[in-house]
Amino acid sequence: MTIVGHILGFPRIGLHRELKYALEYYWDGKIKEDKLLEIGRTLRARHWKQQKDSGIDWIPVGDFAWYDHVLTTSLMLNNIPDRHRIGQENINLNTLFRISRGYSLNEKLIPPSEMKKWFNTNYHYIVPEFVSTQKFKLNWTQLFDEIDEALSLKYTVKPILLGPISYLWLGKVKGKKFDRLSLLPNLLSVYQEILDILLSKNIDWIQIDEPILVLELPLRWLDAYLSAYEQLYGKVKLLLTTYFDGIYHQLDIITQLKIDGLHVDLVSNPDNIPLLHAQLPKHWVLSAGVVNGRNVWKTNLYDWFKKLYPLVGERRLWIGSSCSLLHSPIDLNTEIKLDKHIKEWFAFALQKCYEIKMLCAALNAKNTSNSTYEDTLSEHYASNNLRCYSSTIHDIQVKKRLEHIHDISYSRSSPYTTRATLQHKKLNLPLFPTTTIGSFPQTEEIRKLRSHFKSSQINKEDYYLNIKNYIKKIIMEQEKLDLDILVHGEPERNDMVEYFGENLNGFIFTQNGWVQSYGSRCVKPPVIVGDISRPKPITIEWISYAQSLTNKPIKGILTGPVTIMSWSFPREDIQRKTIALQLALSIRDEVIDLEKSGIGIIQIDEPALREGLPLKRSDQKKYLEWAINVFRITVSSVKDDTQIHTHMCYSEFSDIIHAILALDADVISIEAARSDEKMLTSIQHVINDLNEIGPGIYDIHSPNEPTQNDLIRRINQLLKYIPKQRLWINPDCGLKTRSWPEIQHSLNNMVSAAKLLRKQFNSS
Ligand SMILES: [Zn+2]
Repeated sequence: MTIVGHILGFPRIGLHRELKYALEYYWDGKIKEDKLLEIGRTLRARHWKQQKDSGIDWIPVGDFAWYDHVLTTSLMLNNIPDRHRIGQENINLNTLFRISRGYSLNEKLIPPSEMKKWFNTNYHYIVPEFVSTQKFKLNWTQLFDEIDEALSLKYTVKPILLGPISYLWLGKVKGKKFDRLSLLPNLLSVYQEILDILLSKNIDWIQIDEPILVLELPLRWLDAYLSAYEQLYGKVKLLLTTYFDGIYHQLDIITQLKIDGLHVDLVSNPDNIPLLHAQLPKHWVLSAGVVNGRNVWKTNLYDWFKKLYPLVGERRLWIGSSCSLLHSPIDLNTEIKLDKHIKEWFAFALQKCYEIKMLCAALNAKNTSNSTYEDTLSEHYASNNLRCYSSTIHDIQVKKRLEHIHDISYSRSSPYTTRATLQHKKLNLPLFPTTTIGSFPQTEEIRKLRSHFKSSQINKEDYYLNIKNYIKKIIMEQEKLDLDILVHGEPERNDMVEYFGENLNGFIFTQNGWVQSYGSRCVKPPVIVGDISRPKPITIEWISYAQSLTNKPIKGILTGPVTIMSWSFPREDIQRKTIALQLALSIRDEVIDLEKSGIGIIQIDEPALREGLPLKRSDQKKYLEWAINVFRITVSSVKDDTQIHTHMCYSEFSDIIHAILALDADVISIEAARSDEKMLTSIQHVINDLNEIGPGIYDIHSPNEPTQNDLIRRINQLLKYIPKQRLWINPDCGLKTRSWPEIQHSLNNMVSAAKLLRKQFNSS
């Protein structure tokens, strides 16, 4: 019984983001479909070969997607929303892009399907839509084509399918309400057809992803698993895969399923291997996900060797990545600028494949005498063991400050009502104050300027002078628009997390560490390698310069600790909470300096607060408790008359509304223009506990410019829910992605709408 090494999926975007560029060229009409298809084929062939060369036995197929793998599944099942179909046309790539990106038909905009975060990652999937008359049928042959492609290249293939129950769970009902589970019988018949085809291709094993099993599911859904797998069993062998959290709470159901093996993410729940072995049916494969697919650190292989060793010979064992490597950068070897000692700590996707091979080899050699494998395994991690002595990691001052964290108050000195009176007086705020979320258009020129400064093509004096000129222009524009609260516009920032990471100790940056966020969009998260501190003020020079140019109040914008941590690759040797507290102290220092330099309004952006939520409801309370405290530590030093804002980029927060209230920010701005109703209903019952609030009053990404009347209607609607003294007027976030002419009109209409209503209310 040889131990097999496999991964749950490989990054699809390409080391140099080849797929991103190909997609964008195709969308812009710069390349034809055959060219796009060819680039996809080349990437797959390269990735398969790289995996094979790194020692992966079973090549996963079905992880490639033109936009998103959930969307590919929808196409395979012929689940195309009516609005994205054109006439009798057969499904093609353009259908796929219409669903994911929307399109215009007779000058009317047809919206795309909704995009949602993939569990607790920063990847987004396209939400399947179900209608009561839904009929699934096998349609899109991408999976089979790609299997043929890999077979023709002589690989041993392990196809990946998104399991039927997770597929139903991840989608949403459109139109008339009905029970999604009622679609299961029809769905299963298509899955059976798929399995028959795989069988005819002599496929031995498939990976069937049922990640929702890590959640706390309603009983009905659990029951559905029993009958569903009964029907799918007996054709190709089924490896049921779960990831992102443990499944121990559901073992009694899972062990009854008709499957041939189970994959468990042991990185998120490491200590239950003996329990799993004891409970799983004897003939099942246990696939141990021990190599973290979501982070960049090397795996402590020797440690896993010791834990898995007792199972060798006792049960069929596979070794795998914890989840798909989709969430990991591709190749550490291309990071030529990284310090070589630091590089020793990491493993990217290809190195992770190699780790899997090493561990398999050591376990397979268990019974050969004088095995040198154990030495190799411990050597592999030696550099990381040395990290406990590294001075780049450990900062005694940071540790001391953390020890005394309890001396810091978690609360402002006075309650909101007292603060609000003082703030409104000091800032002289009118009814319905108008403002924006923080960024203004980032022109090509600004980007060039920053990159020239980074590569030392211009000196610091020139760079500062130029950035200040932009700030001046941004201030003048806002004065012209007559906004009440201005911002400096962030021309110096490339990205809200990277910018702060670059200015804090404890972070490092990669050259090619891209990870897909959605479609053609990729992010390059910084890596938190050590204790975090702020060597010197970060934003003061820019923000106080902006304040010197105007009599109106400037709102200083900072990124919050939880967001900086969530959008970075975190350390694994300390708890997330500790990392967040270190960040909180650094941002707190910045807040203190901003206030000292005369800034009376400070906004701490926490768009990632919600995505940090643990997947199991029962774990969420603990997370929210510390995340709230982290935010409160960041701002608790300021005087009563300094106004604290926060910004969140999602509207579905009914489940964390109490946490948002507990932040006790004076003003919260939220993204709302696209899903008004959800937002308004979730705040309705807590409106009396809510301080001031600025729901985005128009979607800045929509090409339809809102008229003054549109906006007045919208504000009047908000006023049905929100008391007038508490309502702020602002657009949704993201002005940085637009051009000046695009935003000027809308903002102008927004300000005049607010003024008009202000006049009406003041005179009545
Ligand atoms: Zn936002």
